[in-house]
Amino acid sequence: MTTEIVKNVVSGIYQCSLPTGFPIGDVHVYLIPDQDGLTLVDAGAHRDDANVLLQQALADLGYQISDVHTIILTHGHADHVGNVNTLAQLSGARVVGHELTQTWLSPTDEWLQKEDQFFHRLYAESGLSEEEQMILRKERQMFHSVVPAYDLDDQLKEGEKVGDFTVLFTPGHSNSSIALYRERDHVLIAGDVLIDHVSSNAFVEPDPLTFTRIPSVKLFHDTFHSLLNLKLSRVLSGHGVVITDPHALIRLRLEMQAKRVAQLIDQIKEGHHTVRQLAQALFPGRMKELMLIVSEIVGHLDLAIERGLVKQTVDDHGMIRYETASNA
Ligand SMILES: [Zn+2]
Ligand SMILES: [Zn+2]
Repeated sequence: MTTEIVKNVVSGIYQCSLPTGFPIGDVHVYLIPDQDGLTLVDAGAHRDDANVLLQQALADLGYQISDVHTIILTHGHADHVGNVNTLAQLSGARVVGHELTQTWLSPTDEWLQKEDQFFHRLYAESGLSEEEQMILRKERQMFHSVVPAYDLDDQLKEGEKVGDFTVLFTPGHSNSSIALYRERDHVLIAGDVLIDHVSSNAFVEPDPLTFTRIPSVKLFHDTFHSLLNLKLSRVLSGHGVVITDPHALIRLRLEMQAKRVAQLIDQIKEGHHTVRQLAQALFPGRMKELMLIVSEIVGHLDLAIERGLVKQTVDDHGMIRYETASNA
């Protein structure tokens, strides 16, 4: 028997919704029973109430925490990995995810310092004020502080099999994103790659080796196209409802990317040339969400530059200025 905490969303996969305390709301953890016990997809946020609910969900399905043998992490964000340390300790489960998830789980001091320098440079180039930079720095520190350290037991690679599922590398929302594809019925467990009610942000992230900026929106664009080439019946997301027409939603997300590029070009033509100016022009009154907005703008400008529609130059103060190219 299942209660409202846990729902049988497709054959052999149960969804358990847990509170996160983040603006996105509840996160879904997926429970997949097999002959050896249970696999969990994602661990939820680091909260006692989430932990209690999850154990209740397991009990509803006739399991206990020690039956969980594997925890697969779809990506490194705190609403998905925050509780992994606790769950791994309680269950003894093997924890697996993309290798880049590790930097979210236990960043080294050296990593944190380089990441800090990376964002400092990005925000200065974007034309943000000292005060804005300081606020964003604090927000980022908060991000790291809500994930107790844990080391992945194994790293997952594109094409690898885990039970009935094939691992797909789906970067964009996070560079550590993976999705799990079940060929027999074309079900995809997608983390935050595709969410029905919100367009997932393609967060700015540094490349872990070079600490240069990863073109997150471009990667997201490519991920969407590779998902369009895949037969999909249902997408089980990290948040929101089960997606029953995945290809229609993916096409909508691609249209939204194209629309954003067009808006940026219009605003550049209107005389807004830095990321800060474009942020103010496109998202007036929403400057509290500056971290997301900077990601949105620089990421879509990458697409515009790749398409030859926009050029960038660096001014005497080290600030990046965007101009439209002659064919825009
Ligand atoms: Zn996420
Ligand atoms: Zn999420």
